[in-house]
Amino acid sequence: MPSSTPAVREQAPINWAPTLIFSSTFLITITAVPWYGWRHGYDAVEWLAFGAMLVLCGLSITAGYHRLWSHRTYEAHPLVRAWFALWGACALQNSILIWCSGHRRHHRHVDEVERDPYSIRRGLWFAHIGWMIRDYKSGAVDLNNVQDLQRDPIVRFQHRFYVPLVLATNVGVPVLLGFLNGDIWGMFLLAGVLRLVINHHVTFFINSLCHAWGRRPYTRTNTARDNPWLALFTYGEGYHNFHHYFQTDYRNGVRWWQFDPTKWLIATLAWLGLARNLKRVPSFKIQEALLQVQFEKARTHLNHSPLPNVEALRQALEAEYQQFMDTLAEWKLLRGQWVQQKREALAEKKHELQTLWHHTSVRTRFKEMEYMLKMQRKRLQVFNLNFATLVAN
Ligand SMILES: [Zn+2]
Ligand SMILES: [Zn+2]
Repeated sequence: MPSSTPAVREQAPINWAPTLIFSSTFLITITAVPWYGWRHGYDAVEWLAFGAMLVLCGLSITAGYHRLWSHRTYEAHPLVRAWFALWGACALQNSILIWCSGHRRHHRHVDEVERDPYSIRRGLWFAHIGWMIRDYKSGAVDLNNVQDLQRDPIVRFQHRFYVPLVLATNVGVPVLLGFLNGDIWGMFLLAGVLRLVINHHVTFFINSLCHAWGRRPYTRTNTARDNPWLALFTYGEGYHNFHHYFQTDYRNGVRWWQFDPTKWLIATLAWLGLARNLKRVPSFKIQEALLQVQFEKARTHLNHSPLPNVEALRQALEAEYQQFMDTLAEWKLLRGQWVQQKREALAEKKHELQTLWHHTSVRTRFKEMEYMLKMQRKRLQVFNLNFATLVAN
């Protein structure tokens, strides 16, 4: 948890609709759901429908509401957008417009008590669910920051017919499936209520736990954390520290092995021709962020060191930092030139051998610079680790 928790005493009125929905579905989940299972049992079809709807709704929030609409990390075919709009409504977390507007404010003003709608600095409960059950000033709806989304007819349609869509998917679908399966109540309790409660809290964990529990390898300027355990339950959104620093990247778990089903879904959609323009941050920038954090840690260690003769270490560290700054400057210059030349080559349709040779050598230099940062980071990581152990002993 963040060290300072400013007291916010705001007597906001209760927001009845979400309060009643959250409390009634939660109560049913801990009473009627197990009771019905004990008395009547749930069959495989019901569990299958529960699992399918859980994943459909979950991914519609992460790949649709979050990475497509809030951050525009890729473009999607209208069929995909309609699908996400439908199952996103089933997740019952408000319309795309309202959700994305709040989320963009969360990124812009992260950790600002008065302006971040779900600031963790107001406590775990507030960031998880408290912010929705009262009409706080910080949560006031203002759609000015989602004008780009209002141009999409699918988004407008979902906003306008949000309540009928919620009822059709949350009540209509389970009742219909239950009718076909011969047990309406069983299906409603599992695929309707239990599924909704899990959908809710999984998303809410991203605002609460992902700002309180985990590591901060990419930036320490905000409370967002990377947590592989939370990624398992949140369709990959647990890599929240990376996400807050590189919000335009369609990946949250940026390493190929990091569990991020949402990025795999988006990549598959692109492969099928249903998504395009997937945005990726250059890997050099990622290395830069990782190294910057290591420098900060090393400086903190030296500044608070009880050991004598830290001056020599400080000088060595500053020499490392100078090398880092030089590499950054070279990368910036070379990248600017490279983008410019690529644009010109495309415009003139030049594919000469000379251009090809130049591109190859520039690319090699990029790789070398990336490698230099990686090696510097390794040095600093070892230094930080050894230093901490030395001081502890
Ligand atoms: Zn986000
Ligand atoms: Zn966040």
